[in-house]
Amino acid sequence: LETQLRHAQKMEAIGRLTGGIAHDFNNILTVINGNSEAFLRRCSPDDPRRPEIEDIRHAGERAANLTHQLLAFTRQQVLNPERVDLNTTITKVRAMLTTLIGEDVELILDLPAHVSPVWADAGQLEQILFNLAANAREAMPGGGVLRIGTDNVFLDACHAGRIADVGPGDYVVLIVSDTGTGMDESVQAQIFEPYFTTKPVGKGTGLGLATVFGIVQQSGGQIDLTSSPGTGTTVSVYLPRARMSTAPLPCATPQASPDRG
Ligand code: ADP
Ligand code: MG
Repeated sequence: LETQLRHAQKMEAIGRLTGGIAHDFNNILTVINGNSEAFLRRCSPDDPRRPEIEDIRHAGERAANLTHQLLAFTRQQVLNPERVDLNTTITKVRAMLTTLIGEDVELILDLPAHVSPVWADAGQLEQILFNLAANAREAMPGGGVLRIGTDNVFLDACHAGRIADVGPGDYVVLIVSDTGTGMDESVQAQIFEPYFTTKPVGKGTGLGLATVFGIVQQSGGQIDLTSSPGTGTTVSVYLPRARMSTAPLPCATPQASPDRG
């Protein structure tokens, strides 16, 4: 629990800091990107200055992507939980996932119809999916198989407290597994740390799994990861099941008033 707390405090401090910087930086980038774009629009195709300005424009775009990721990371605090069918969410973003992973990675979905709805923020669930799929993709440079599955699980007291301080109960598990490079134990120990990355500068931000961790924790869920070098990685995200009934609690029901229409 102490580790969890320290992690949460660290995330919050980093979030506040990066949020402020990213916001100001984004305003500066607007000037750089806007002007380089305007210049390129106006200059002729054979203008000798073109390649240099194109480089500026390209670098500006990358910087803008990075600041957007940073802003998304710091904005994760705002959660809008609702009753969500995870299988529907996955099916909805299937086309985007296929594009993300490319042609040399096969996507296999295992979405049984009996899976219960979860209590979570649908947009954040999509973010979890994209982050995990992106990592899987990047771990399979020579192609492979990405499996995404869901199921109902009951976590007993022994399992429930293992990763996060969450009680036993009914969960839905989202399993994302790849046949990629895998990770050794020293890497595994650091993957949820904000800014931890093994990828080259400009490629990895180290915010993907920290973001996933934050969302899962705030959703009252937990996350488990098993990985072995050369074989692949499986990430299991446990999300609390939504209540069976969608009917509002009796005290929340507004007083019925006679229709005077
Ligand atoms: P980033 O992808 O930007 O590096 P993440 O937080 O998403 O940041 O991941 C942190 C690190 O965890 C990665 O740099 C990589 O070393 C490792 N990692 C995450 N997912 C996987 C995976 N599916 N297979 C192998 N390594 C992974
Ligand atoms: Mg990542």
